[in-house]
Amino acid sequence: MPSGVGAFLSKRAPLCFVNFRNAVKIMLKFTIRLFIILAPLTSICLAQVQLENPDIIGEEEQKIVQTRQMMGTWAEITVYSQDVKSANIAIDSAFDAMTAVNGLMSAYNQDSEISEINRQAGKKPVSVSPQTFFVVKSAIYYSEISDGAFDITISPLVRSWGFFRKQGRIPPQEEIDQQLALVNYKLIELDSERNRIKLLKNGMALDLGGIAKGYAVDQAIEKLRASKVENVLVNLSGNMYAMGHPKDKEAWHIGIRHPRQKDNLLGFLKLKEKAIATSGDYEKYFIHEGKRYSHIINPRTGHPVSGIASVTIIAPTAMKADALSTAVFVLGAEKGFQLIKSKDGVEGIIVQIDDKEELSFVMSEGFKKRFISY
Ligand code: AMP
Ligand code: MG
Repeated sequence: MPSGVGAFLSKRAPLCFVNFRNAVKIMLKFTIRLFIILAPLTSICLAQVQLENPDIIGEEEQKIVQTRQMMGTWAEITVYSQDVKSANIAIDSAFDAMTAVNGLMSAYNQDSEISEINRQAGKKPVSVSPQTFFVVKSAIYYSEISDGAFDITISPLVRSWGFFRKQGRIPPQEEIDQQLALVNYKLIELDSERNRIKLLKNGMALDLGGIAKGYAVDQAIEKLRASKVENVLVNLSGNMYAMGHPKDKEAWHIGIRHPRQKDNLLGFLKLKEKAIATSGDYEKYFIHEGKRYSHIINPRTGHPVSGIASVTIIAPTAMKADALSTAVFVLGAEKGFQLIKSKDGVEGIIVQIDDKEELSFVMSEGFKKRFISY
């Protein structure tokens, strides 16, 4: 191109022989030609800056992925955006929101509001944040609609079976019976006016492990939305929310894990503006005399649920998907399917497993339509 500039100048060399009007004409032509020549050079320079400095806003959408350890597990946020710097700031605030939920609601954290409620069980009510109050109140709603299958007062049994400290054991029936007397969501007293929660019996304890991760994902999504991030997938240990879509795709593709083959999928589905959660008997479990004991406990029997390998739920919010996946896991195929069908915007798959480890599937209509099996 510089040779073009030279050629142009040499053609116009006898400038002194032209009149004023011609001189203006020539100047104008010169300026236009110079612009045509320099414009592409300018954009090449900008493109180079853009590549060297990932914080600059460009035309190309970039994939930004951040992974962090939290809540005793891992979280991953994937964003597609032209503005990498703003996206990273938004992702940081989303992780902060999830960390805050953990700080308030983890029973592993002695300073959490849930730990304080547990310490004061049978003694006095505890003032909590609106967030903790909301999650506990919602948990009670999921207990009611699942006929007690979902119950956050399950903690004493989770501890007895050794899942709290990850040292599985089979408790004597006597111990199970004692703990069962402490498991009853109706013994959670809520004071809505003062955001206070009291467990009515000494020895009771709350465990939000079946619902808080979903809530944390919803909180993260709220932050990302407020930051104007449009295309994002938040994944907290299998509790996900899919907003917008990745570059060149119309929706997020979410794989459903095979419950017995870690690296294989049962299939996948396309998701947009929806949450999805899976409860699986492969997440936390121990094997004793050839039998698998998993971390989801039936509040009626006091024993870990058997016969279900996994439940995946699609719902409008991640908290709903989380709570319902645990509830349906406890309810089993028949009653679980009825619960899925009864809720608007909720779809799901229940994977049953028999003694010979053969799988069978129960799927709602909406799930079937989205699901592409392998
Ligand atoms: P999820 O992976 O969401 O199904 O949650 C499982 C976790 O929820 C367990 O590790 C326990 O902390 C807790 N949990 C176990 N059984 C129940 C139950 N019946 N209702 C509510 N939470 C439960
Ligand atoms: Mg759950």
